[in-house]
Amino acid sequence: MALKYIEEYRNGTLARALVKKIHFASKKKLRLMEVCGTHTMSIFRHGIRSVLPAGITLLSGPGCPVCVTAQKDIDAFVEFARLDNVIVTTFGDLIKVPGSSSTLGKEKAEGADVRIVYSVFDAINIARENKNKEVVFCAVGFETTIPTIAAGILMGIKEKLDNFSIYSANKLTPPALAALMETDGVKIDGFILPGHVSVITGTNAYRETFEKYNIPSVIAGFEPIDILHAVLLLIQQNEKEKPDLENAYPRAVSDAGNIKAKKIMNKVFKVCNASWRGIGEIPLSGMNLKKEYQKFDAAIKFGMDMPDAPEPKGCACGKILLGLKTPYECALYKKKCTPMTPVGPCMVSSEGSCAAFYRYS
Ligand code: SF4
Repeated sequence: MALKYIEEYRNGTLARALVKKIHFASKKKLRLMEVCGTHTMSIFRHGIRSVLPAGITLLSGPGCPVCVTAQKDIDAFVEFARLDNVIVTTFGDLIKVPGSSSTLGKEKAEGADVRIVYSVFDAINIARENKNKEVVFCAVGFETTIPTIAAGILMGIKEKLDNFSIYSANKLTPPALAALMETDGVKIDGFILPGHVSVITGTNAYRETFEKYNIPSVIAGFEPIDILHAVLLLIQQNEKEKPDLENAYPRAVSDAGNIKAKKIMNKVFKVCNASWRGIGEIPLSGMNLKKEYQKFDAAIKFGMDMPDAPEPKGCACGKILLGLKTPYECALYKKKCTPMTPVGPCMVSSEGSCAAFYRYS
């Protein structure tokens, strides 16, 4: 669907025509998962769930980086904040995520130096201006942000910044899709694949998972027309029983992705196993610093190795990220757990499904 201007991707007439086609094509009950927090928010913001046939269920998957960060990594961030002479730099959402004993926000209120940044380069600036302190950056992100963090490390080397390091809780998307498909009880009839991650990875990154599981998969942009178009394609693939890997976001995503960004990412980081909230350890689903860059690894620099920790009592974030539950099915939703008093990360993050349900549904 080649449109030219952003307004066209929000055009009501086009949207109504797509909804009509969706209703016409939809015969089977289908569970479609959007694997990106930005899709989740866009779906709610534009009321997309309300215009779909009753048989189409949209599930929010493990696509919000804050939500999938394992409890032990949140605990590590809190421990860094408790160290003397350390400034912890973090994206805003993380500050409210409850760890096992505290949050970064609580530590800040009690005197820890925790600062909200908008990119790794803000953290580097803080390191430049505070040479007598150690600056730790909480690196939480997918393929979209990892190249920028790699660029930050290279800048740190160039400037001989000895007081800057990162704690990498970075994650890769395709291995998580494969892990979902292997998880008992998970039932997904199609993936709405993440637009901005795919700008970096390219369509080819999903080919192995698609070929192994033969699951309908469509890369989508974030405007309502993009999402409705992706839903239509997934319904058509299912109805025809012809699974395909389609790129419905060609204005931004190519087969090969952003080669320059991938090059810088792979120069600095190596693939490693990673722990995901609700899923556990997924082989080769994380990115940690290569040996030659390990002087920037905060876990090594400070000997930080936190044990695995359970999710907060009663919190169903893990099951929600797997599409096994909805926020409505969590006993704490809207009672003990609200955006003001979040129990789990899915209620904290602006891309979390509990926060989206709370705000829009
Ligand atoms: S409503 Fe709160 S406690 Fe329940 S799953 Fe969501 S974040 Fe966790």
